[in-house]
Amino acid sequence: MKLQEIALLLQNETGAKIRVSEPMCNHTSFHIGGPADVLVVPDNTEDVRNTLRISREHRIPLTVLGNGSNVLVRDKGIRGIVLKMGNALKHWEQHDDRFTFESGVSLAQCCRIIGEAGYTGMEFAVGIPGSLGGAVYMNAGAYDGEMKNTVVSVLTMTRSGDLKTLTSEELQFGYRHSAFQEADDIVLQVTMDLSKGDKSEILAKMDDFSQRRISKQPLELPSAGSTFKRPEGHFAGALIEQAGLKGFRIGGAEVSVKHAGFIVNADHATAADVLQLIEHIQNCIQTKFHVYMKPEVLVLGEE
Ligand SMILES: Cc1cc2nc3c(=O)[nH]c(=O)nc-3n(C[C@H](O)[C@H](O)[C@H](O)COP(=O)(O)OP(=O)(O)OC[C@H]3O[C@@H](n4cnc5c(N)ncnc54)[C@H](O)[C@@H]3O)c2cc1C
Repeated sequence: MKLQEIALLLQNETGAKIRVSEPMCNHTSFHIGGPADVLVVPDNTEDVRNTLRISREHRIPLTVLGNGSNVLVRDKGIRGIVLKMGNALKHWEQHDDRFTFESGVSLAQCCRIIGEAGYTGMEFAVGIPGSLGGAVYMNAGAYDGEMKNTVVSVLTMTRSGDLKTLTSEELQFGYRHSAFQEADDIVLQVTMDLSKGDKSEILAKMDDFSQRRISKQPLELPSAGSTFKRPEGHFAGALIEQAGLKGFRIGGAEVSVKHAGFIVNADHATAADVLQLIEHIQNCIQTKFHVYMKPEVLVLGEE
């Protein structure tokens, strides 16, 4: 099926925004990535269901994206449909200490809403980029907090279009892990339990965490955050620094001078540059310290 035909079908059968041959560098925090054949931004749950149905019926591969802040999209781009959930579905509601957000809400906004309402528990996440759906998928965390601590259930849609609610046990949260990494369900809604707290203390804590990020992380350059997971018993950034790799470059990709745990897009980097740099770091750390560095950044797209 031709790209234009897929796009027309999606246009006729959903109310979603559709773009053909959309450069993924416009949708990733790395500012890297070739074109997606067709990018779909749903307007509601029915759009998600219809997009999944069209992908199934016409055997078009479908990749789910949140806000693109933990992914590296290869230079050839992504074949088939990219369903962009970040910034798509954004309703939320509160009943006492229980908050339910749709998955397209940005994590920062979700934390601010909770903090402004005087509830504590999400301060740790205020500076983590991305959508709530992506944060649940990754069990995002910082400053001794993680999504696992507050999420009590998630409403998902299976690839066949059925709705399913998963409880916290079924979500199998672990270090940067959730059940979604093994299943390919789509996160639609996230429910969190929080506790009442002192609003001014909560907001001050959020500001403190944001300031710490500004002073320690290379936020002035595009990246996907920490490149590697924390190897047991070590800190990824410290190992990379001890290996003398701070500032090391391949093409436009650089080990950040400010924080060695981040690879930054210093100068029009390609995905190939970043992948070579990841491999180089892994080899150096293996040779010097006999430690395997597992990437945290997820690689998407055609090889
Ligand atoms: C400067 C910077 C700092 C960062 N700091 C941190 C940090 O402190 N802690 C941390 O944990 N992470 C950090 N990250 C990484 C990133 O922000 C998180 O992993 C974030 O939770 C990813 O969310 P996203 O919406 O961007 O997901 P994406 O990167 O778009 O996607 C990540 C994965 O989630 C899946 N996904 C996304 N949305 C959905 C959905 N609705 N349904 C099903 N699957 C979905 C995608 O398919 C993909 O596999 C940082 C990144 C940057 C750029």
